[in-house]
Amino acid sequence: MRIHRLSQALINKIAAGEVIERPASVVKELMENAVDAGATRIHVSVGAGGTDMIRVVDNGCGIAAGELELALTAHATSKIHDADDLFRVGTLGFRGEALASIAEVSQLVLRSRAADQPEGAQIEATGGRLSTVGPCGAPVGTTIEVRNLFYNVPVRRKGLRTAATELGHVKETFTRIALALPQIDFVLSNNDRPIFDLSGTGRWRDRIATFFGRELADNLIWVENTDGDVQLSGYVAHPSHSRANNQMQYLFLNCRYIRDRSLQHALREAYRGLLLAGRFPIAFLNLAMPPEDVDVNVHPTKIEVRFHNAGQHYGQLLSTLRTKFLSTDLHVRVRGESEDPTGAHDDDQADRLRDELVGWAKGKVAQWEVDAAEELGEEVQRTFDASEPREPLSITRLDRPWAPAGGTRGTAPAGHSDAVAEPDAGGCGEPNLAARVPAGSASLRAVQLHNRYLVTESDDALVIFDQHALHERILYEQLRSRLAASPLETQSLLVPEPVDLAPAEAAAVVEHRDTLGRLGMNVEPFGGDTVLISGYPAMLANLPPAEVLRELLEPLLTAGREAARDALLDDLLHAIACKAAIKAGDRLAPEEITSLLEQRHLVDNAHHCPHGRPTALVFTREELDKRFKRT
Ligand code: ADP
Ligand code: MG
Repeated sequence: MRIHRLSQALINKIAAGEVIERPASVVKELMENAVDAGATRIHVSVGAGGTDMIRVVDNGCGIAAGELELALTAHATSKIHDADDLFRVGTLGFRGEALASIAEVSQLVLRSRAADQPEGAQIEATGGRLSTVGPCGAPVGTTIEVRNLFYNVPVRRKGLRTAATELGHVKETFTRIALALPQIDFVLSNNDRPIFDLSGTGRWRDRIATFFGRELADNLIWVENTDGDVQLSGYVAHPSHSRANNQMQYLFLNCRYIRDRSLQHALREAYRGLLLAGRFPIAFLNLAMPPEDVDVNVHPTKIEVRFHNAGQHYGQLLSTLRTKFLSTDLHVRVRGESEDPTGAHDDDQADRLRDELVGWAKGKVAQWEVDAAEELGEEVQRTFDASEPREPLSITRLDRPWAPAGGTRGTAPAGHSDAVAEPDAGGCGEPNLAARVPAGSASLRAVQLHNRYLVTESDDALVIFDQHALHERILYEQLRSRLAASPLETQSLLVPEPVDLAPAEAAAVVEHRDTLGRLGMNVEPFGGDTVLISGYPAMLANLPPAEVLRELLEPLLTAGREAARDALLDDLLHAIACKAAIKAGDRLAPEEITSLLEQRHLVDNAHHCPHGRPTALVFTREELDKRFKRT
């Protein structure tokens, strides 16, 4: 085989393979070009879901006749000039290969007129072969029409789905772009029938309402936060509105739709305790930041980006939502919508929502009283505080993601970050897992054995995790970093629960009340050796409060009077983590195993060792080879 250069046509086809997967990909590229051209009105029409025809008409700046050919040429762009520009991309496109790619695999007509030109010009491309440029009548702006996508790439053409399915993808693409830019008019039609006709009012809530209905739009909560030069703003849905998957999480980076696992994590984490297991929050959020703080050149379609300060954004999102949900009472929360600077705020509507929710909460209390009366003598009924419509989550399983360690970093009040002392290092003899287990879960294979061990491999070793020990360590690290920023979340009891203790226990509890409070365990003396629990750690919400308190007694008692507060706090955290972790014997779903192993990095460099037991055993391949006498 001789080495030879590929023809430009083949290079374009390969590039097309990466960027152009289906009609919706063409719609995305053409719409983005129109946005980059400063259009205020963008009309997208497709025929047969885009399998026959895709046309995008814009009123943007247009392309000069002399540059039409260049626009269809690979690696020709007006958007970046040098390598430095690559690290401060302010436009949606910049690779300069979309039009060339599309032209390579379709029959394309490009018609355009630049604002300063008296007339328009036109060029055609058939399977990458360009026609000469000729004049044509055209308004200022650009029209690109793409027919018979993949007519010359049979495998791709065959790979197209039904018109209805392709139209579904086109609609989703259209939605993502139109949602991000509420100031632009967008129209979408299929087979000449209008599907969306959106006027660019600039009001985000209106646009959301057009796509997803008034009912949802009326139940959105405005959130906003600035951290340095990163601005987070947008809407999240009231917890009464959720979805069975995360498809309704529209995250935008500088108005570019993105998917980001870390931010999705933060969202779920923020809603923890507010949604039932298996339900996902709904959100429409934009992160605005200087372009140089993010690398958008990591994915051909740019749907994934790489933040330089991912941890900061994670913490910002999480703490902004938490603050909104947890430290504000419902009334204030609803009124908080007036912060919406886009003017989408509607007082009447906020009042209506508030009344509705207060009514709902009252009904809940009334129902609770009936139940309580009926169950007289039984265990005290618990619920979240009366005014908030929350459903408790079952917490001990991995039914929710955990924040990366230090996820709330950057939001911790100065001087508090060292609230928990770093216990002494070492002593456990644990292997450094980071060195052993490759990062990234894509290649991760693992099996659960005996419902207690997770067996997996790294490049050079066989690794066995103890599922309980691993989860306990992860939770512990989690709690520790969270605690550095703020007290742990409390689940309040509607009716405080009295617990009878031994005299020494009662004394210890009362003495360490403040420390317990930081962990979300709220207790007060109640006369004699009885204490009253008014709230307890939300992450243990599925256990009886008295049992949780008893779990914490041991560290309290052994701590004694002189115990350093930090060491005590640490012991209590271990007790909570142990209690909340999955147990040996728990059968795990594949997603739970993946989630657990994905978070193992949290314990990589930890010097802690809750019960002095190892979290993982590592058998190097060398060692195995030796034992099997292969060497
Ligand atoms: P990129 O968007 O990455 O620059 P494209 O292949 O999508 O690459 O487009 C190439 C060039 O053609 C753009 O840089 C821009 O100058 C021009 N162009 C494409 N579409 C339009 C449009 N709708 N209006 C004005 N100029 C356009
Ligand atoms: Mg482009």
